[in-house]
Order: sequence, then structure tokens, then C-alpha cells
Amino acid sequence: MAKGVGAVTLFFSTIATAETVYEPVGTIRPAMEPPNDAVDVDVLVVGAGISGIYQLYRALEEGFTAQLIEAGSGVGGTWYWNRYPGAQFDSESYTYAYLFSEELFDEWEWHELFAHQPEIERYLNHVVDKFDLRRHIQFNARVTSAVYDEASGTWDVTDGNGTPIRARFLVAATGVLSIPFFPEVPGRDNFRGEQHHTGLWPAKSVDFNGKHVGVLGTGSSGVQIVPVIADVVASLTVYQRTPNWCTPLNNSPITDAEQASLRADFASIRDTLNTSVAGFLHEPHDRATFDDSEEERRAFYEKMWSSPGFSKLTSNYTDVLMDETANAEWCEFVAEKVRSLVDDPTVAEMLIPKDHRFGEKRPPFVTDYYETFNRANASLVDLKATPIKRITEQGIETANGVRELDMIVWATGFDFGTGALNRMGIRGLDGLALEEHWADGPTTFLGVQTAGFPNLFFPGGPHAAAGNNPRYNGDQVEFITETLIYARDHGFDTIEVSPEAEDTWTAMVDKWAKQPPSFTEKSYYFGTNVPEKPTRYLLNAGGRPKLFREIARVRDTDYQAFKLSRSA
Ligand code: NAP
Repeated sequence: MAKGVGAVTLFFSTIATAETVYEPVGTIRPAMEPPNDAVDVDVLVVGAGISGIYQLYRALEEGFTAQLIEAGSGVGGTWYWNRYPGAQFDSESYTYAYLFSEELFDEWEWHELFAHQPEIERYLNHVVDKFDLRRHIQFNARVTSAVYDEASGTWDVTDGNGTPIRARFLVAATGVLSIPFFPEVPGRDNFRGEQHHTGLWPAKSVDFNGKHVGVLGTGSSGVQIVPVIADVVASLTVYQRTPNWCTPLNNSPITDAEQASLRADFASIRDTLNTSVAGFLHEPHDRATFDDSEEERRAFYEKMWSSPGFSKLTSNYTDVLMDETANAEWCEFVAEKVRSLVDDPTVAEMLIPKDHRFGEKRPPFVTDYYETFNRANASLVDLKATPIKRITEQGIETANGVRELDMIVWATGFDFGTGALNRMGIRGLDGLALEEHWADGPTTFLGVQTAGFPNLFFPGGPHAAAGNNPRYNGDQVEFITETLIYARDHGFDTIEVSPEAEDTWTAMVDKWAKQPPSFTEKSYYFGTNVPEKPTRYLLNAGGRPKLFREIARVRDTDYQAFKLSRSA
């Protein structure tokens, strides 16, 4: 399979060129005795999602003592909490999974090209057991405070159970989609029926049978749950504020022959995923829209419509995200598809975005979503035309009156990127609160550290990914692990990024966040979905190539982006 290099997608900017020069920070680096490890644990990982599990594995593999604490009662992180019906990958299963063990890759057969949540959760449990990680994981423990002790160069961490842990290094793998967002709608607590947020879905099964259900929100989560519950509910009311450019996921079972070829191709799949620009296997296209005739374009759009998941972004015409006319033509094609799938022309028009182009926001991928609105028991409410006034005891009241409901599903998104980190009670040097340090939005170096918080790392957090998340986050975990080894080998036990390195990286992120092709401030990737949250880009605008280059530079310059020292 070919590398995904050269694709122009919104996940990254291959054109980031801001030159970074790290000034030596003047740290004296004499050869020293090995550090005194008078701590409970060398590496404390927070969060048993895909990144946290991998960080635990890598820390143990490299001979550090390590422990993981997790707020949930099981592993999975995002894939533990988001267990709503229909939750599934929209990156190909085997590209989202771990690649560090060929044996693991060989023995785990994904049943679907885009696995559903139960299979993902089974997989992560399998990984934890196969690599004997479970005994290092403390479940049902949510970090309530993490305070840096400068004298000892350690973190004092407390969980909700009051258990104190002293860790040399704190790795907060707490994820970007961990804090569910509920909009300020008056009366939410008055509702007498059931209500659930997709990002905080209960472990016990939720019974939709014969119920009148309202789903609020039509992002990736809302459009996944809607078609799945439509069959069993008495009525389904979808409350939409803004339609999205939804295109088919095109899921399919993985056949035995495909399983065999995946195994045979492991090395090339791994190498491609470990180096590709956005962490996908999709082949980039080599033509711009108007290189082709109208007829050829039509045929190509049909091919895109039938292609799996994100390839509509990664393998589309090279200018689809850059050229307004090219983008408009693709959007018109999608709009025509919606009109052809939805019987009621008024409803079809309501489902077609009018306020943003394709790729300006993260596009959801769907299975039978549009068709759901042809069902007699399904209806769509346009919240721009008839805004919600309040939640009543019986249901949702809009400008059109009250609709009585048995259940409300809040598919209203997350406090993305910084939500979990800002709520953990993290206090760095001189008691500096992380949430104050980031009052104007996150500042980071490579999305792994921030100045003033020595020995704290946060892979998979703000400025982390801009494509297939586990690939980027895995790069960060590798880098963090290498950095810990470097410090250990050189007799240091305190690692803090220099403010200069952080400023340079953050300036690069902020600069490239505004260059096309890029998401715009309409996207929650700028934090604009949460009132009062600073508008600041939360992904890695430089993309994976920039991350690779900077990691190489850190190595080549003998870690001069960091202050390495030894605690008293
Ligand atoms: P989201 O994309 O942020 O969507 C939230 C929805 O809630 C939007 O439709 C939003 O409308 C609506 N909303 C928010 N506040 C509202 C209000 N006050 N009144 C009415 N509507 C309101 O959240 P999400 O759907 O949970 O998805 C978040 C991310 O999770 C995705 O982008 C994706 O990265 C990830 N995800 C991935 C998958 C997958 O397939 N792998 C599945 C689900 C989620 P507006 O657009 O008008 O703000």
C-alpha cells in the first residue's frame, strides 16, 4: 500500500515551514550519579485509553516502575465512556489499533472495517491482559489534584478515593474528548424522563423500546446513534442546530481473504502508518478538480461517495479543500445525494449545510442517517428556526411548543482538548495552576509538555493529533519514553521544556491554524463550542511531518529544548 504522503487534507498542513531554533537553555549537564528514585512510582499514567495503555506498556518495557489510574471501571478511555448504540470507529480498525506487536496484530481479527464500540473495548481488554498490564491499573480512581514538589522533583497526586501517590513523572493521557459538554438550556434538571450524554453513556443497557426519544446534536455522535435506535423507538425527534457534511462510512465485514492479506502485509502496513502524513493508508489523489472533464469529475465523485470513511478527505481532488469553486462543486454533489436520499424536499434542504464548506469542520461519516428521515416515526427540528426555550418535566419546549419525550440524548459534544487537563487540579512550579497558565488557551511544546510544569507530559492532549489519533499519539508516547530514557541515562530526574521552545512551537500552531487548508473557528477544534472558552487552535496545525522534524531536532541538539536537571 502506498504512503499517504502528499495528500492535502484538513488534518494537517504539510506546508508548515516555521523555522524553529532552540537556544541552549544554559543547563549544566555534568555526568551524575543515577537519580534517587525514592518515589512510589517512576511513571504515573492517568487514563486507560489507547494512549495511556501504550504509555504504561512502554514505560514498563523500558524498566521504569509504572502505574496507571483510571476514573472508569474498565479500560478504553473514549471507547469506554462513549458506549452509546452505534458508536464506532471511522478510521479503519487495523489502522487505529496498536502496531507495536506483530503477534498482537496477527492474533486479533477485526470483524468490521470500522469496528463498533463493543469490539473496540474487547480489543483493549485483550491488549491489557496479553501484556499483563491490568495489575498496574487502578480503576475507579479519578485524579483530583496533582501538585509538583520542586524540592524532590516529584508529583504528589491524589485521587477521589483519597489515595496519595508520589510519582517522578506524571503522564496525563486524559484524552481530548473526555469532558462531555451540556449546553446551558434552562430546566435540564427538571426533566422527569431519562437523559444521557453520548460521552457518558451508562454501562447498563439503555432501553429505547417503544419510547419517545429526542436526540440533541448532529455531530459525529448524534448522526451515529440516530439510525441505530430509529427502529425500536416509538418516535425519534432529532434536534439540529447546524447540519454537517455527512457522507457514507461504507463499513463492511473483513473477509477471511482480507484478514490473510492484512497479516501478510503487516510490515508494510505498519511502516506506512508509522510514517504517513495523517496516519491513514488511503492513497492521495494526484489530480486537481478541473484537470478532469465534467463527466470524469462526476464519476470520481461517485467513487469518493462509495469509498471508506476519511478517504473523502484524504483521497479527494488535491484542491478540494483549497479552491472555493472545487469545494463548492463537491458540496453540490453531496447536496444532490442528500436530496436523492430524503423523500421530503423540505427535510432534505434542512439537512444540507448552508453555513460552511466541506472540511471546514470535522465531517461525520454515516450509515443510513439520511434515510432515517424517511421513516414515519422520525422527525427533524430546525433549532435555528425554532430554538429551544427550555426543558420541561415532560420534554423539550421550542418556539413551536412542547414535545413530550421519555428520553433525551445529549449528543452535544465535549470541552475538547484541554477539558480534562484543566480540571485535574494540576499545580506546577510555585503553585502555578495549569488552567491559569492556559487561561488564553494551551501553549505546548510538541503537544507533550508546557513550561512551568516539570516532569508532566500529556500525550494525546492539546496540539497532539491532526489525523488518525492513535498514530500521532503513539508518536508522542514514543518521544516521551525516549526522553525519560535519555534523562535516566544521563543522571537527570527533572525534565522541563524551555519557554523558548514552547513559544516557538505554539506560535507555529497558531500561525498554521489560520492557513488553508484548515478548520475554521466554526469548528470545536478552536474551542468555540464552549461558552467562555478561549478561541485557540487545539490540534497540531503543523501535522505529523512537523512533529517528526521537531522530534529529530530535539535528538540532534541533545535535548536542548529541555531543561534537564537533578532534584536536590
Ligand atoms: P460535536 O461534533 O461537537 O457535535 C455537537 C452537536 O451538538 C452539534 O450538532 C452542535 O450543534 C450541537 N449543539 C451543541 N450545543 C448546542 C445547543 N446549545 N443547542 C443545540 N445544539 C447544540 O460532538 P460529537 O458529535 O460528540 O463529536 C465530537 C467528536 O468526537 C467528533 O468530531 C469526532 O472527532 C469524535 N467522534 C468520533 C466518532 C467516530 O466515528 N470515530 C464518533 C463520534 C464522535 P452546532 O454544530 O450548531 O454547534
